[in-house]
Amino acid sequence: MPSPDKPSYADPMIARQREELDLLAFQELEALPGLLHGVTTRQLDLAAAGPQAGPNLERLRRALGLRRLVWVRQVHGTEIVAVDGEEALPAAQADGLATDRPGVGLLIKQADCQAVILAAPQKGVIANLHAGWRGNIAGMPAKGVEFLAQRYGVAPDELYAAVSPSLGACCGEFVNWREELPQWFAPFRVGENHFDLEAATRHQLEAAGVRPQRIFISGRCTVCQGEFFSYRRDKTTGRFGTVVALRE
Ligand SMILES: [Zn+2]
Repeated sequence: MPSPDKPSYADPMIARQREELDLLAFQELEALPGLLHGVTTRQLDLAAAGPQAGPNLERLRRALGLRRLVWVRQVHGTEIVAVDGEEALPAAQADGLATDRPGVGLLIKQADCQAVILAAPQKGVIANLHAGWRGNIAGMPAKGVEFLAQRYGVAPDELYAAVSPSLGACCGEFVNWREELPQWFAPFRVGENHFDLEAATRHQLEAAGVRPQRIFISGRCTVCQGEFFSYRRDKTTGRFGTVVALRE
């Protein structure tokens, strides 16, 4: 089965090291005052079941200089949790985190799914969303934009958005797409059975009111680029992660 060519996104990410931890960062987000973010690699397994999960999460928190690192139990839904206090997070199942508190790192764990960072640094509000193909179908990118508008009064055109390394169009094969994907997904079909989920997310963010020039797509495919954990490639695998925080 021939794979379609990888879409020609300019690579907006640069390598960073913090306390010997390999990270990737979006150049455009790094230029925003008050914002801190990073994407980890295979170097650090953040999976809850991983033997090193606790120490690795603590290492990530320290490397980024965060007061607190928070995550939720991701279930491919659309629930978003606001972290507005110092309370322990409920053991709730959710797929998004938002905060207006500095020093709190919002972590999405991944192995092919997208993490979608939403940031209005001038308003001091951020979110991090978990969106696999089920998240795209459920409209998770737009739900994140709406959540920030309702809870924090952030207008969509104030937001910057970044889509982490994830399943690329090159490897985005859905053999059962006729059953699994809705009709409106048709524009994102890029081969016989291949779909471009990054393009779907970009479309969903733009439709929700995010300015096109403020949306940054990593374009790095977790399946065919070896630096990340990939469920599709390895089946039993760890998790890398994307973190965003407001600087203290
Ligand atoms: Zn690929």
